[in-house]
Amino acid sequence: MTGPFEPGEAAGLARMQAFQPRMGRAYAAGRNRDEGPPTRADAPLRRDVSALSPWLRHRLITEQAAIAAAAPHGEHAAKFVSEVLWRGYFKGWLEHRPEVWSNYCAGRDAALAAVEGNAGLSRAYTEAVEGRTGIDCFDAWARELVEWNWLHNHARMWFASIWIFTLRLPWELGADFFLRHLMDGDPASNTLSWRWVGGLHTRGKHYLARRENIVRYTDGRFDPAGLNETAEPLPLDDEPVRRALPPSDPWPGGDFALLLHPEDCAFSTLDLPRAPVRIIGVTPPDRRAASVAPAVTAFSARAVADAAARAGEHFGCPVDLVSDWPDGDDLPLVAPWLPTGWWRDTVPAHTSIAWRRQPYDDAIWPLATAGFFKVKAGAGRALGRLGLDLPPL
Ligand SMILES: Cc1cc2nc3c(=O)[nH]c(=O)nc-3n(C[C@H](O)[C@H](O)[C@H](O)COP(=O)(O)OP(=O)(O)OC[C@H]3O[C@@H](n4cnc5c(N)ncnc54)[C@H](O)[C@@H]3O)c2cc1C
Repeated sequence: MTGPFEPGEAAGLARMQAFQPRMGRAYAAGRNRDEGPPTRADAPLRRDVSALSPWLRHRLITEQAAIAAAAPHGEHAAKFVSEVLWRGYFKGWLEHRPEVWSNYCAGRDAALAAVEGNAGLSRAYTEAVEGRTGIDCFDAWARELVEWNWLHNHARMWFASIWIFTLRLPWELGADFFLRHLMDGDPASNTLSWRWVGGLHTRGKHYLARRENIVRYTDGRFDPAGLNETAEPLPLDDEPVRRALPPSDPWPGGDFALLLHPEDCAFSTLDLPRAPVRIIGVTPPDRRAASVAPAVTAFSARAVADAAARAGEHFGCPVDLVSDWPDGDDLPLVAPWLPTGWWRDTVPAHTSIAWRRQPYDDAIWPLATAGFFKVKAGAGRALGRLGLDLPPL
């Protein structure tokens, strides 16, 4: 069951086309409002936001395509384009500081072990993920996440804030809950957004969910009592060390197979000097946690199968689908860059794959060294070189 998310490029393009007329003023005016899940089976998931994130996350739809779709709205596309850029900002930021991901994984494992050994924590955690805390909105969002595999951005912010500051649960457990259920679950956007809410990303600045704000932007569907609206930010951890971005690997000579994986299914935007002789679609083991929602793993596997089939047709070559990283002993392997995250963690050391960065990432990631402002200021020029025309941001 995929609900509103059909895992192929065609369904993503159809959703993008349907939302295109609302990418301008309507998006800027309505994007903070969460009207809740649809009540009719044939209705879109939301009216005011695109719900394109599962396709963008796997690059069944590229950021370039989403930005180009918004272009006819001219200056009114600025808000939508900025949000798309946030995705690249987070990816680039984490790529500069991969230890933030490994520290998160270690923190999550320690917190899960603490849940096992502490009855009070175990009860509070179970009540939170099962939507039984007594906080009306929070409980509804916990159930909505499990049922729909998606939440509105504002609901994600409120939920994370209540998790951290009102329920006082470890942020890593909340981030893990999201990653196991979100159809768009992404190591960078998710980890760094949770850290941002807690005050660890923009260091010392946290996000507090406020009752009045929730009532207003949910059209009065919720009126939560008992929120902690005066909490201090989480205590700061060590400032993460920033490394230089590793370069793309050199091209192997001669024939090669193109490897597509769930982090990046886009093959037409890759800078290929010649056509591959084989396509390999890989859905590697998933190391998030044992209980990733079946709909989420199915979306990733079908996204890869869809992209591999299209690539095979495009290049006129055979396609293999595999469930673990091939070693490249028979034929050199080239793949889109595999960013920091659980799939990167599954690549065996001995595998020789030439990882090639997408031109879009090469444009945005070098700007993602500190705050988002640098991406906002530099994206117009950087993406202009790729032929993309950005509105003033
Ligand atoms: C605690 C928390 C956890 C999150 N976890 C994830 C995650 O795992 N995966 C994920 O893709 N996004 C995550 N986000 C960001 C954001 O909530 C979603 O990208 C957005 O809600 C997706 O809905 P949409 O496609 O309708 O977005 P729209 O508002 O229509 O925006 C279009 C696209 O821009 C990108 N985008 C929009 N807002 C953001 C944002 N704040 N940060 C990064 N990219 C953005 C997405 O690719 C999105 O599809 C998280 C946010 C928070 C606060």
